[in-house]
Amino acid sequence: MRMNRPLQAQPHVTAMASYALADLSIPTGKKRIMLAQNESLRPPAPGIAAAVSSAVTEAQFYPDADWQALRTTIADVHGVNAQQILCGAGSMELIDALMRTYAGPGRRILTTQYAYAFIRTMAQVTQAELDLVDEVDFTVSVDHLLAAVQDETRVVFVANPGNPTGTRIGRAEILRLRAELPESVLLVVDEAYGEFADALNEPVFDLVEQGNTVVLRTFSKAYGLAAMRAGWGLFPPDIAGQIRKLMNPNNISAAGQAVATAAMQDQAYMRETVALTMEIRQRFADDMRSLGLRVPTSYTNFVLVQFSSLAQAQQAEQALRAEGILVRGMGGYGLGDCLRMTIGKAEEMQQVTDILRAMEG
Ligand SMILES: *Cc1c(COP(=O)(O)O)cnc(C)c1O
Repeated sequence: MRMNRPLQAQPHVTAMASYALADLSIPTGKKRIMLAQNESLRPPAPGIAAAVSSAVTEAQFYPDADWQALRTTIADVHGVNAQQILCGAGSMELIDALMRTYAGPGRRILTTQYAYAFIRTMAQVTQAELDLVDEVDFTVSVDHLLAAVQDETRVVFVANPGNPTGTRIGRAEILRLRAELPESVLLVVDEAYGEFADALNEPVFDLVEQGNTVVLRTFSKAYGLAAMRAGWGLFPPDIAGQIRKLMNPNNISAAGQAVATAAMQDQAYMRETVALTMEIRQRFADDMRSLGLRVPTSYTNFVLVQFSSLAQAQQAEQALRAEGILVRGMGGYGLGDCLRMTIGKAEEMQQVTDILRAMEG
């Protein structure tokens, strides 16, 4: 007999909120200035558009499921083993597959209080428990992480540099974290902003050799390819084999792979983007501090700006939005008195400074 019951999603999915993307509404007639999603301040290298055309004229074929050209290029540039690279439709796909493989009911994910919001989502998706430890001065504390490890902890996630804080911990601290974590715990080092800290010359790719650590990077930030959905990571062979089972086998479009490969080949252009971003960031952070606002030292293409109160931060967000400038409110992180501002062009950041300075008076 057929029962007449309404269709229902699984309870843990029903209980989830929709993923919170930035509110992109602005007054009509204003030009939109996007400082809310940590996108690059300039388009990708002009030469790379040509890479797309053959991908499009041969679009009847599925894309390369092994990302051959892309992996070889990444391996050349970073001096890592191409066999240990997996590419994702953005590094979010890799985080998603890692969490679905290693987290789950009865297992715990450990990260810090201002960790990347997508980790909360993945804890809910996988029905794992999520443990958040305090940061110190908006910076990851390895001591706090180590003190919070439990028998059921399976994944420790550290974005380094972090989002939304922009801060980072050094290679020595990452090594200490790995050395003191149980071997049975997977350590995910998310270097989505790694290119902005490469000049410090503290790569951690060698940690992958230990067999229980992965390092993730993306084309969405320094390479200016957020729309193409391409990320990559370095994985121990066993972990790569496990998570691939859960990934879409044809995840990155041929156009996305072609463009990401061309962008990786043009390191000079990416380095120029990073240098330009850092120069504008320095000036902007100084300007914010001169207004009496707190700005943790950033190693990324954004800054976290702390106002004197929640009301001040909201007033600033509204004043910027009224001029078409979008920044990111941080209420979801328990940082309602902060706004995260992506570093845009010099004149855009000057406009932000001018608006906030006018508010002060
Ligand atoms: C932007 C970002 C990502 C990557 O996003 P994709 O576009 O999916 O590659 C990953 N981690 C952090 C911390 C980020 O800020």
